[in-house]
Amino acid sequence: MPISQSYKNRLFPVLDNIVDHYQTPFHIYDESGIRQTGDHLKNIFSEIKCFKEYYAVKALPNPKILSIMKDMGFGFDCSSIAELMLSRQVGTQPEDIMFTSNNTSANDFKEAGKEGGCILNLDDISLLDKVATMPELISFRYNPGSRRTGNDIIGNPVEAKYGVSHDQIIEAYKRAKEKGAKKFGIHTMLASNELNYTYMVQTTLMLLELIEDISKELDISFEFINIGGGLGVPYTPDAQPLDLETMGKEMTVLFQKFEKEQGYQPALYMESGRFMTGPHGVLVTTAINRKDIYRTYVGVDASMSSLMRPAIYDAYHHIDVTGKDNNPETEVVDIVGSLCENNDKFAVQRELPKIADGDILVIHDTGAHGIAMGFNYNGSLRPKELLFKKDGSVELIRREERVEDYFSTLNFEKDTLAL
Ligand SMILES: *Cc1c(COP(=O)(O)O)cnc(C)c1O
Repeated sequence: MPISQSYKNRLFPVLDNIVDHYQTPFHIYDESGIRQTGDHLKNIFSEIKCFKEYYAVKALPNPKILSIMKDMGFGFDCSSIAELMLSRQVGTQPEDIMFTSNNTSANDFKEAGKEGGCILNLDDISLLDKVATMPELISFRYNPGSRRTGNDIIGNPVEAKYGVSHDQIIEAYKRAKEKGAKKFGIHTMLASNELNYTYMVQTTLMLLELIEDISKELDISFEFINIGGGLGVPYTPDAQPLDLETMGKEMTVLFQKFEKEQGYQPALYMESGRFMTGPHGVLVTTAINRKDIYRTYVGVDASMSSLMRPAIYDAYHHIDVTGKDNNPETEVVDIVGSLCENNDKFAVQRELPKIADGDILVIHDTGAHGIAMGFNYNGSLRPKELLFKKDGSVELIRREERVEDYFSTLNFEKDTLAL
């Protein structure tokens, strides 16, 4: 079920006030919901000796959201300089930042080394020679290639640009050790929006077996395994949510078995982005036009610059039209923005209550990979972000982009080159 009933029950009665005060369009995120999901994640792993979520900053890079994560004891998964800066801005300690970059530049490494550094998660064996000083703790991102676990293929990692290949993984740790690394971690990310919990269990098993092999070969032990993000959320009304309880139980058994055989438990790290915030955000937008041609189009005051997923992934985002819950007259429409781009649609041929100009539409599940994927094509500007706080008040946490922002990169010193 998209967004929680609890968020709907708290938000909808006050939405008119919020719209009056802030004006549409805006994303609004639910602090209570985010905290509940965080607690839930911690609970299912409470019998693993050390569990930590490193929130994937790219999913919702807002300092107020990151502060909530930090308050829950979570760290951050970053892959760019701006994400590192954002994570540090909220006062995060070096060991709570995991830098999982790929195609890493010298500048990226320089920034990663600042302010006490962070956990470096190297994407390739060649990067060992590009790290200025080998940190005490080092991690590699592992790409298993076409390896199968059980009867299932986990994605198709052979085609993915990420990670160290199976044939290189032992050599990678060997060289890191020779270069002075003393502590080791391992990372992989093999799923995206996955609603079948067994993939996460298989990934965990794969990494535990792998570190057993590496440890035997090189006489090292591992501080952590990081199974990445990719936990799915149900976007469509009939999708079943991930079975988190069973996932937690089965993974706990794997850790306990590992401890029995190896004499210790590595920590379990995870980098959920979507799962943590996706269902706890909505995009609120006003219907401003309708046209009846070959189809009926309802134009709203947001465009795909606020939410790309329907356009680029053909993703379904549930839509409520507020004030029309009780058996209203319905019609089939496309909900569209104003870009000169025919993909600029939030819904295609969707049955919705009949919409008039001025009606408020709530587009669900925009709390991850929503505003973060926004862009400025066609001079489109991204909307503001609000936080529905646990005390019931609302706070502006990012203002809307203005035309001045769009023009700001045209403000520069003249720089010509005579050839
Ligand atoms: C994108 C990404 C995540 C988060 O993925 P979700 O699907 O949002 O959970 C985590 N780790 C890495 C390395 C990523 O690239």
